Parts: sequence; C-alpha cells; structure tokens
Amino acid sequence: MPELPEVEVVRAGLHPVVAGAVVTAVEVLDHRSLKRHRGPSDDFVDRLVGGTIDSAVRRGKFLWFPFEPAEAHEQPLALVAHLGMSGQVLLRGRDAEPDRLMRIRLDVDSPSLGPVRLAFVDQRIFGSMALDETVPTLDGRAAGFAGPRLLGSEVEAEADAVAGSAGETGTNPDPAAWVRRVPQQVSHIARDPLDPAFDEPRVITRLLARRTGVKRALLDQGLLSGVGNIYADESLWAARVHPEQPTESLSRARARVLLAEVRVVLLKALGEGGTSFDAQYVNVNGQSGYFSHSLAAYGQQGRPCPRCGTPIVREAFMNRSSHFCPRCQRVRTR
Ligand SMILES: [Zn+2]
Repeated sequence: MPELPEVEVVRAGLHPVVAGAVVTAVEVLDHRSLKRHRGPSDDFVDRLVGGTIDSAVRRGKFLWFPFEPAEAHEQPLALVAHLGMSGQVLLRGRDAEPDRLMRIRLDVDSPSLGPVRLAFVDQRIFGSMALDETVPTLDGRAAGFAGPRLLGSEVEAEADAVAGSAGETGTNPDPAAWVRRVPQQVSHIARDPLDPAFDEPRVITRLLARRTGVKRALLDQGLLSGVGNIYADESLWAARVHPEQPTESLSRARARVLLAEVRVVLLKALGEGGTSFDAQYVNVNGQSGYFSHSLAAYGQQGRPCPRCGTPIVREAFMNRSSHFCPRCQRVRTR
C-alpha cells in the first residue's frame, strides 16, 4: 500500500511536469475509479478538459492537483488521486502502449515536457480519482507539500512566495488561492510530521489524552497522517516503545522521541525511494524503491533485533500485524 514516502516520490516526480499543464483529453476506462467523484463521469471529463493543473500537492499519503477549469469557477477545484491499495499515477508518452490496468487517462500539454499522458493505474480498484471542491485550511497555512522538493521549510516559504507575488500582479486577486486550500475529501486528514505546519506540541497533547495503544494512535489519520503500518513498526522499534504501550502512560519526552523517530524513518524511506517490499508499488517511472533493505522490525519476525539480537516477534494487530523486539520494546510503567 502506498504510504507517505511512496506518494511523495510520485508527487515530486509529477510536480515539474504537471505545473501549468493544460488537460487536452480525458478518458474514463473504468467507472468504478470515479466512485468518490460526486456527479457523472461526463461531468468529470467536461470540467477537466481545457483546464490547467497548478501543481502536485501531498498531505500524508493523499495526493491532489489544484485545478483551474476552462470555465471560471467560484472556488479553486482539486483533482484528487486516492491511491488506495494499489493505485498509481504514471507518467507516459502520449503514444505509449496503454498500461493494462489503466483506469483513467489524462492527456496533458506540459510546459516542461510537451504532450504527455498521466495514467491512473489501479489493479484492485480501491483507489479512485475525483474532482473536488476545496476549503480553506483551518490554520491558514499551506495545505500540503507543493514544491519540487519535500524538505525543510522551503515548501512553506515557497507557498508564501507564490501567494505574495500573486497579490502583486493585480490581474487576478489571488491566483494562488489554492495554496491554502485543501480538497474537502482530504480536509479531515491531519497534517503529517514532515509538514512545516505540523503543530507538534498540540499533537503530543492530543496523543497523551487518548486512551488507547500508542501504535493505534500513530495510525489515526485524524491525529497525524502519513504513518502506515511499516513506518509505525519501524519508528516504535527505533524509539524502543511497545506498540501496545498505553498513550496516557507515555511521557511528553518519550512522545517527542517517538515523533522524531517517525520523521527519521519517513525521511530515510524517502531517501531510498519508498518501500519496495510491496512489489505492486512503483514510482512515476515504474521503478520500485529500496527501503525494504533497511527494515529493522517490519516483516523481520524470527530474525535478530539489530540492537540486541533477540528475535523480532510478530503479533496480530487490527487485521494486520505488529513487529517488535520483546526485549527492547517492553511496556513501561511510569
Ligand atoms: Zn532488541
């Protein structure tokens, strides 16, 4: 399943191609892939064709393309790509052999590459695309990552620069209004720990107020986003926290360490192009990442813990599994 690092790899690959790209043709090959679009598929196609994509934006594992339709619309729209279990947005030549599992085809004229194709490919059809309304972010900050690179405060600075320069042109009151707007379908998703606008003290306060196990809280997209099962297991191992440690028994200091480890794990995965253990998941060019070579706990049951040598154990967890070291990661009492 694509998670934050995989989606960021895809987003960063698409961004320079789609920024300013005009949609020239859209074909919906499987209507199930529009299940989250409110309205008929004709509406999806009609509003997209002739419009311009502003950029590629990501929050957690959610990807969207702020979009200006050919006909003036009162609010900025967004083309949301829900990747689900197996969805991908692949960049293809306009004349390329169609991908076998392509569900939606978007032909665009890209300022940087000319005519190219965005192929929404989805084997299991849990994913979908939708044209969605946008709403202002609650904190007034950039809705997600929209720049060419992920790291640092560059993204927020870039968003500010875009919004600032937009105000100076005078031709359009706010052509970059999309920067601080989030698609309705993504608005319930909390910011991820790599987001410059991630409010760590507030997230920790909310985390410690939960009455649940810490891993369950880490996976709660309403608290923080972007941490899937693999990254939860890896960061819990790194922070030496048991997955079932009660949240209310964590100290603030421990919670800070855990969030720091979450960031390290996500950045490491990003640096390596995402996890490749899921062979289904590939980046824009169809290559899979290499992160699986450096997993310490996830999928490592029976192998020695890289820290203490005790065999990693696997336990059932919410229809999935938790992997941890029974020696390094004991449930602690304060
Ligand atoms: Zn250990």
